[in-house]
Amino acid sequence: MRACVAWNVFLANRDDRSHSSMTLCPARLEPTFSPRPWGSFSLGPFFPEMSKLAEQIGEAWMTGSDCRFAGGPFAGRKLGEAWPAMPPEWTGTLAKRADSFPLLVKFIFSEDKLSVQVHPDDEYATRHERAAGGRGKTEMWYAVQSRPGAEVLVGLHADITLEKFKRAIADGTAEDCLLHVPLRAGDAVFVPAGTAHTIGAGLVLCEIQQHSDITYRVYDYNRRDAKGKARELHVEKALDVIRFGPQKGGKVDPVRVRRDSITKTYYAACPYFAAEKWEFGNRIETATSPEHFELLIFLEGRGTLQWGAERTEYGPAQVWMIPAALGEYHVAPDADASPGPASGTSLLRTYVPSDLAEYSHQLREQGVSEKESSRVIHP
Ligand SMILES: [Zn+2]
Repeated sequence: MRACVAWNVFLANRDDRSHSSMTLCPARLEPTFSPRPWGSFSLGPFFPEMSKLAEQIGEAWMTGSDCRFAGGPFAGRKLGEAWPAMPPEWTGTLAKRADSFPLLVKFIFSEDKLSVQVHPDDEYATRHERAAGGRGKTEMWYAVQSRPGAEVLVGLHADITLEKFKRAIADGTAEDCLLHVPLRAGDAVFVPAGTAHTIGAGLVLCEIQQHSDITYRVYDYNRRDAKGKARELHVEKALDVIRFGPQKGGKVDPVRVRRDSITKTYYAACPYFAAEKWEFGNRIETATSPEHFELLIFLEGRGTLQWGAERTEYGPAQVWMIPAALGEYHVAPDADASPGPASGTSLLRTYVPSDLAEYSHQLREQGVSEKESSRVIHP
């Protein structure tokens, strides 16, 4: 990435330093890849350099603490180290910088199905998982690719009680207690903390979630690794946090707004993240909010990000952090990147919303009724 020189911000002297300056520019993060027993030997064509792998890779972490910045003022530094040192012009004025980076973006490559699992909420994680960061996990999945018949299982059938579920775990039939959700490319699923779930085979998902790695596995199909070892289960904690009775979340019925040459699809907004898809064929103009940084997750298309007099190139399977105080910027798809009706760029945009009332207000301004927006807002 080219050096960013145009946008120097002079910060007020907060801790007795005279003036410090910090360049503002979109900054790409390098992924880290994690082997998983259910993963794939090829992440192509999404990551073309990752086909023909020696081991099964299940997850590409795009904003993990160990992901390094590819450019910008934090080039070469890990996100987990850079975040606490970032000024509000980068993080946003409302960011809680004392906590770790708030958003975890991953791509999941499921060659086989994942274990049946659940994540705790913030309250439970604060009480029981301090050493693991103390943060719960609400998540959303966006299906990037899907083999025919692929599905996820999300939430429990209405008649499943704690007793029934315990028995099912003991019998090896926990999967039968979950609701089947067929997934096609472009579908999204909202999975609030406490929702039992698993991801089926044949999917490439983009996961947007609270930055937490706390998973309670209840059933792993008695799988063994190459050394004959089973993965650890956490049944007791899982049963503490699983929601029985009426379920929340599930497949998203998104809100779509078409305006000029851009289509915006709103999937979910909760206190932890808002997530939407932008699809466009021509250069668009947009602007950041000083209150929060945003992440652009490029799915398809190549082009340039342009701000001030600067520009840099983007491509698929890249995640860029856009600093909160960047202000106005443009995303310009290459004219000849992918000819045909599907030409142009599609990206997911995610950020920590300042306030859900304000979010709903923004949708209303785009002509979305309150009834419609209530489908995607999870207070
Ligand atoms: Zn999960």
